[in-house]
Amino acid sequence: MLNIKEFKKYGYEFIDWIANYYSNIENYPVKSQVQPGDIYSKLPDKPPLKGETIEEIIKDFNEIIIPGITHWQSPNFYAYFPANTSFPSILAEMLTSALGVQGMKWETSPAAAELEELVMNWLKKMTGIPDNFDGVIQDTASTSTLAAVLTAREKYSGFKINKSGFQNNKFRVYCSTETHSSIEKAVKIAGIGKNNLIKIKTDNNFGLIPELLEDAVQKDLSKSKKPLCIIATLGTTSSTAVDSLKLISNISKKYDIWLHIDAAYAGNSLILPEYKWMLEGIENADSIVFNPHKWLFTNFDCSAFFIKEKEYLIRTFEIIPEYLKTVSDAKKVNNYCDWGIPLGRRFRALKLWFVIRNYGIEGIQDTLRKHISIAKNLEEEIKKDNRFEILAPVNFNLICFRYNPGNIDEETLNNINESLMHNLNKTGKIYLSHTKLNGKFTLRIVTGQTYLRIENVRKAWELIKETINNILSDFVSLS
Ligand SMILES: *Cc1c(COP(=O)(O)O)cnc(C)c1O
Repeated sequence: MLNIKEFKKYGYEFIDWIANYYSNIENYPVKSQVQPGDIYSKLPDKPPLKGETIEEIIKDFNEIIIPGITHWQSPNFYAYFPANTSFPSILAEMLTSALGVQGMKWETSPAAAELEELVMNWLKKMTGIPDNFDGVIQDTASTSTLAAVLTAREKYSGFKINKSGFQNNKFRVYCSTETHSSIEKAVKIAGIGKNNLIKIKTDNNFGLIPELLEDAVQKDLSKSKKPLCIIATLGTTSSTAVDSLKLISNISKKYDIWLHIDAAYAGNSLILPEYKWMLEGIENADSIVFNPHKWLFTNFDCSAFFIKEKEYLIRTFEIIPEYLKTVSDAKKVNNYCDWGIPLGRRFRALKLWFVIRNYGIEGIQDTLRKHISIAKNLEEEIKKDNRFEILAPVNFNLICFRYNPGNIDEETLNNINESLMHNLNKTGKIYLSHTKLNGKFTLRIVTGQTYLRIENVRKAWELIKETINNILSDFVSLS
């Protein structure tokens, strides 16, 4: 067990480790190349009876754990959406773990509660989310959306389901066919049932078609169903499509339906004036979530959830057993354990505060714009090569594309593009992921790593062109 002197010695060594890691991060294979079970089988299956030294542990960390790591912070990581971090965020996380605060109530650490309130208010000013919304940090967008659906359920049931459970479920929830799977999860957990989640078709740009939404609402009303909640997405996971909040919010207002906005990834771009148009209609919305842990250089987890009528949220979640009663309950403080599902809460506001202060709004804007311009640049390169095609509008910094030189059938194209992706990822030089758009196997490249440079993306594009040339001979039908 470490004493404070040893802690200090290793502490400095660990900082050196982290600095070296970031200096050399591009030398690791981006996607871990291990096979299932490789890591587990290399480790003793019994915990040690006697304590081991940090040297012994770090040796295994370097030799066994690191090969099984996929390097999410590598600038050559283009898969999924990023979960990016930054040096100020890492430094702040060290302090958070040192303080080891459990910030469930104001009284269990007043600074944790008040800093959370402050940074959430900063985010409102930065993004244009209206002042009459209140913010709280949740672990993920999935949790935030679940909190929104549960709150809508309680508001529209008069808090009866919390009390007596479901009697006769008439609720319906609406989203688009491109909506994130966390919405279906929330609807299932909230007891509304996946069959009562109505998925509305999308247009050519993969945005929800508002007219079809209104038709679905009217149809449900005529069947004595109760339209409960609409989920609009700003930046879908497949292709970063943007639903028309303006038109959807007219419908939610007209029929008095809860409107939740899932802006998990692209909500971060609201910090740029050129994206503020996406919020048109927000005044009629009830809640919105976006994840600083995706594209705001703040390491996982940190999900910013905002709600217009926090009273409904708190009434949905608040439980005060005797052992949690504090003097502060009577005062005007935020006890964030009443604003969501878990009782225990990490001090997550600290890292966000460090990031916003260290970057400044301008620093954040410059970095976001750099990521967006790198994406535009790659889009242009892809368009210049007529063997490839772009499959969705590049609204932010996600490029959806595939190899398609013409005159190859769709099934073979899907196979070629899937093979292209696996071959690229096998090189360890880049890591990208895929989606399906209109049945087409689509490669996704997201240019959102904190320390990404244009040279990384240039090299990635060269590698893609090289790799496609190498694999084409595998497809017999083409030879
Ligand atoms: C990533 C994502 C989510 C889920 O985010 P978590 O924080 O991992 O739960 C939800 N919606 C959209 C649009 C996303 O891109």
